Amino acid sequence: MSVSESSLLSKTLRRHYLCLPQGQKCQATYVWIDGSGEALRNKTRTLEEEPKSVTDIPEWNFDGSSTCQAEGSNSDMFLIPVHMFRDPFTLDPNKLVLCEVLKYNRKPADTNHRHRCRQVMEEVEDQHPWFGMEQEYTLLGMDGHPYGWPKNGFPGPQGPYYCGVGADCAYGRDIVECHYKACLYAGIKICGTNAEVMPSQWEFQVGPCEGIEMGDHLWMARFLLQRVCEDFGVVASLDPKPMKGNWNGAGCHTNFSTQATRADGGILHIERAIDKLSTKHQEHIKVYDPRGGLDNKRRLTGQHETSSLEKFSFGVANRGASIRIPRQVGQDKRGYLEDRRPSANCDPYAVTGAIARTCLLLAAEDEEELEEGMN
Ligand code: ADP
Ligand code: MN
Ligand code: MN
Ligand code: MN
Repeated sequence: MSVSESSLLSKTLRRHYLCLPQGQKCQATYVWIDGSGEALRNKTRTLEEEPKSVTDIPEWNFDGSSTCQAEGSNSDMFLIPVHMFRDPFTLDPNKLVLCEVLKYNRKPADTNHRHRCRQVMEEVEDQHPWFGMEQEYTLLGMDGHPYGWPKNGFPGPQGPYYCGVGADCAYGRDIVECHYKACLYAGIKICGTNAEVMPSQWEFQVGPCEGIEMGDHLWMARFLLQRVCEDFGVVASLDPKPMKGNWNGAGCHTNFSTQATRADGGILHIERAIDKLSTKHQEHIKVYDPRGGLDNKRRLTGQHETSSLEKFSFGVANRGASIRIPRQVGQDKRGYLEDRRPSANCDPYAVTGAIARTCLLLAAEDEEELEEGMN
């Protein structure tokens, strides 16, 4: 059996209990990134009344020695509520609360990339940076094999699955549809979904989001994905190359614009941003997956609609480049660029922080160097 035992528990019984009235009380589920920098943890407490905003939600703590975030002898970590969403599982008035993690000394935990990202976003606030991220993922059965694939073999080769319809093309659409609705209910800025090139591989897009909001919304969308998959008894993997061989990997394309790139003639500012990105390719690769480029090494091969890990490239409508300028943007001469390098399991705070830093904060002397190089 490739779905979990728990997913087979009675849903009729569950509904009876979930419909019981709860008085004035509110359940708040705190969600945070653990020591792996990839997995999310959560725990729930009762609040006396519904919080009106995230500032009404108290700090909390957890045992960091159980999440690879602290030693047992000094294990208490702080949970700082930073973004409140509606809870699509237990419904109003209950909340999901995204948190930053601080160590015992109230310094950011090692995998708390939000802290630094927020500082960068505050510095560039006046340029109104917008991001949109395309989260690709692969559904796996409990046996670790892609969901719906034959037990001892492979489905037909890639071709009919991308944006496909029909039982022989779309594997596990229930999850995609339920996740989409859950995101809308929660207040996540999800803007679309599609079936991907490899069977059982899907994508959802979040955006446009301004500044720090991008990471907040994408992390909570990932939490909802894992949670919906749990209900259905399957697993969503963010591994950038779950199947070796002639199967597409999974990325997290990151689209980026500013007030200047969105304005008439903004293509000039897009080209400028690409010039800057070209000088920092390796630095970006280091923060585009949780293992400093090792994960992306399996994915960015130059095949399967990816660019090379070593070499920076760009082009209009080019899906084999590091940076793609969408065709429409090339025609309108304004809009956004797409960085195709981030891995599916990237930290969106690290990625958006690096893009904002390189494109909008690169030191003046670096810019002069760039101009000399270009002349
Ligand atoms: P693709 O053709 O690369 O598959 P998608 O439709 O999957 O494109 O994703 C497009 C992404 O671009 C979405 O996340 C969307 O929010 C984002 N986006 C659209 N306009 C902008 C913009 N002006 N600035 C930043 N991101 C944008
Ligand atoms: Mn896409
Ligand atoms: Mn895609
Ligand atoms: Mn894309």
